Amino acid sequence: MTTETAVTKSEHLMELEDRYGAHNYHPLPVVLERGRGVYLWDVEGKRYYDFLSAYSAVNQGHCHQLITDVLKKQAEKLTLTSRAFYNNVLGEYEKYITEYFGYDKVLPMNTGVEAVETAIKLARRWAYEVKGIKENKAKVIVPENNFHGRTLLAISASTDPSSYNGFGPFVPNFVKIPYNDLTALSNALDDKEVAAFMVEPIQGEAGVVVPDEGYLAKAKFLCEKAGVLFIADEVQTGLGRTGKMLACDWEEVRPDILILGKALSGGTLPVSAVLADDPVMLTIKPGEHGSTYGGNPLACKVAMAALQVIKDESLVYNAFYLGKYFRNELQKIKHPLIKQIRGKGLLNAIVLNTDDENCGWNLCLALMENGLLAKPTHHYIIRLAPPLCITKEQIDECVEIIGKTLKEFKE
Ligand code: PLP
Repeated sequence: MTTETAVTKSEHLMELEDRYGAHNYHPLPVVLERGRGVYLWDVEGKRYYDFLSAYSAVNQGHCHQLITDVLKKQAEKLTLTSRAFYNNVLGEYEKYITEYFGYDKVLPMNTGVEAVETAIKLARRWAYEVKGIKENKAKVIVPENNFHGRTLLAISASTDPSSYNGFGPFVPNFVKIPYNDLTALSNALDDKEVAAFMVEPIQGEAGVVVPDEGYLAKAKFLCEKAGVLFIADEVQTGLGRTGKMLACDWEEVRPDILILGKALSGGTLPVSAVLADDPVMLTIKPGEHGSTYGGNPLACKVAMAALQVIKDESLVYNAFYLGKYFRNELQKIKHPLIKQIRGKGLLNAIVLNTDDENCGWNLCLALMENGLLAKPTHHYIIRLAPPLCITKEQIDECVEIIGKTLKEFKE
């Protein structure tokens, strides 16, 4: 195959997406067809390091053998019954995941944003039935610059115009306060109609914004004092990504409602979960919430395998130590474009020193040329989040790619 025909193949596939797909994404111009561990290959056979991990859904690495074996085996046996009937895997999974995270109950859903919706419904129901807030009055406090997904509820909570512009009317009663601001939280909690405070322990989509040490623990304390539920959206930060099983573990915070997604299936299927104790979870009764695919036996088997891999392969430990090492090595790259290196575990970002809106994009194109895939967020922040199975040698190679790319880069 000549280079010219190879390029045509990629271009053809990109054109197909452009012609027949909605234009709701702006992908880097690379067409991927295969993945294994930390690597991805494009249709021309070029290999890349994956430093996005499908927004942290592929913590266990691409096409993990154990997870795909479990998936294939269950796919040939039983995939979906709906919750109209019992199935022989759901109970086993529910026991497994609740013991894994130490909660009374789990409510299984599919995508991250569905789990967010579920958490807010639970908080509202709890507010009316347990806390005694008047019907339809419950409020939820959220920090600014949050990201909880793309449904109307999630964008109603958003302060990012590119998320919500032109999609109103919105779900009411979100109270928006600055992130990492305990005084603002304390003031907002004075309102007796507040049901919950929903927070990302690190704001991933906002650009890997790490709050001050103590923020989560103090926020949890303030919520407890006010009789308000603390909801942690760990869809992106959970499951080892930040060097602890949950990012909340950094401050020994146990959320009242825990939201998980993404890596709960190791990047194979949409699998999400909401965990809570009985006084919250049992406020929703039969027929009041659900999802056709939520809790399907295929997802349940895959989720157990995905969680087991995180433990068996010490991925949390790996993220903790290699994350530290990675940031240290990045700090050694001296370049005027680097304003800040930040992050926790293997959820990291380079903040660029630039006013040029295209700089992040162009740098990602250059990284792609050099064999590393990353995506800018907010034009000037490059998130760096490889699968957690990455090795020290691979990190060294990637730091070299990043250093070399920056050195060659013309803004
Ligand atoms: N919550 C957080 C913190 C996220 O980062 C995301 C996705 O990036 C979501 C929720 C939404 O997840 P999904 O895209 O699976 O609906």
